[in-house]
Amino acid sequence: MAAVPLTDIEPLQNVLSARPLGLFSDIDGTLSPIVERPEEATVTPRCRNLLKRLTGEGVRVALITGRTLEVARSMVKIDEAAYAANHGLEYWFKGRVEWAEGVDEYRALVEQVLAETTQLEVADVQVERKGPGVAFHYRRAPDAEAARAAILHAMPLSTARRFNVSEGRKVIELRPDVQANKGTATRLVADRLGVRGIISVGDDRTDVDMFEAVSDLRSRGIEGCRVAVLSAETVPELLSAVDYTVEGVEGVEWLLGEVLKAVGGKSP
Ligand SMILES: [Mg+2]
Repeated sequence: MAAVPLTDIEPLQNVLSARPLGLFSDIDGTLSPIVERPEEATVTPRCRNLLKRLTGEGVRVALITGRTLEVARSMVKIDEAAYAANHGLEYWFKGRVEWAEGVDEYRALVEQVLAETTQLEVADVQVERKGPGVAFHYRRAPDAEAARAAILHAMPLSTARRFNVSEGRKVIELRPDVQANKGTATRLVADRLGVRGIISVGDDRTDVDMFEAVSDLRSRGIEGCRVAVLSAETVPELLSAVDYTVEGVEGVEWLLGEVLKAVGGKSP
């Protein structure tokens, strides 16, 4: 079934009447507009206000994000919410940090990798510690190709080979070699929060894993709906993974307001 624009909350009645109800949301591009410099992205005050009020009405709000837990919490600033951060590696439940299974040993390994790759810093490589992983950014290096080669050269010589190595835009990232993505995160959070209904919202490729997990949960009797946030950069695979679409972060604000009204909150 093709995704249809959501203009009315009525089609979500089955999900909205399930208790406990979960609201599972991505952060970047969903609650916060995409900006040139990711470190400057902020959740809109309206999104934060609505999410906070939803938690007050008993809705189990969960943030499912690629950001580190520390950054995700500082962006959303709602401690009552659950967080599945770093693509399912780091969690926050009831004020406590938890890790995905198998991740703990990597936290010590990161220290070793950092010690073994200190010489990279002089080559204008920015080393970012990401919880149980590490990212080497070479965007600022004068010779990007040389910087990339230097990083990759350092990898097999060090503890780095214990990690999954992946490349992104001017970044080489080491992630723990454990099975984790937004799909494993969604299943774990749904289980821990005991939700019987889930409204899931996301805007990007990695959110497809979350939407597929919601589909699986539906086959286990949990009510679920999947909403894509449209932008100029929407990828086709996102649209084939959802039931509904909304337009941009403003569309998400509208949706959150409608959900709040439906669960008995005062009209925002
Ligand atoms: Mg996103």
